[in-house]
Amino acid sequence: MQGRWVMLRCECGRNFGSRVNSNANCPKCNGKTSLTTVKIFSSSSELREAVSKANVPGEIVSELSFKLAAYEKSERSKENLTSSDIQKILSHALLADNSITLNSIEESMASLKLKKMSAEQLIELLEVSSMVLRNTNNSWSILQ
Ligand SMILES: [Zn+2]
Repeated sequence: MQGRWVMLRCECGRNFGSRVNSNANCPKCNGKTSLTTVKIFSSSSELREAVSKANVPGEIVSELSFKLAAYEKSERSKENLTSSDIQKILSHALLADNSITLNSIEESMASLKLKKMSAEQLIELLEVSSMVLRNTNNSWSILQ
């Protein structure tokens, strides 16, 4: 089976996962010109493990909080999700195979009464923050 996932290392020292041939940006400094391919993986779970080993977990968590905080500030409406809402939605939306789908996000938001944005918008936010990776079959893996 061909490798479909790649671990990239940025000049700034951050390692992150991406799909092979995707136009990736560093989630930390947003750079895209000084990325080095560290390794190619055939499964997103191997990639996830390698990325989390390569980065300090605390750094990723604070990075995410920072991005979510920036996102919250940038939105005009006060009717938005906080980062702790998002954590709740994600843990509720996680399927048995450790993936999430638009449907599972949708249902999770509905049952938690946290439907303040569309599932697509939330996924987009999480993708930009490198919190999730898109799989082939319209599902996403949480990168943590
Ligand atoms: Zn970087």
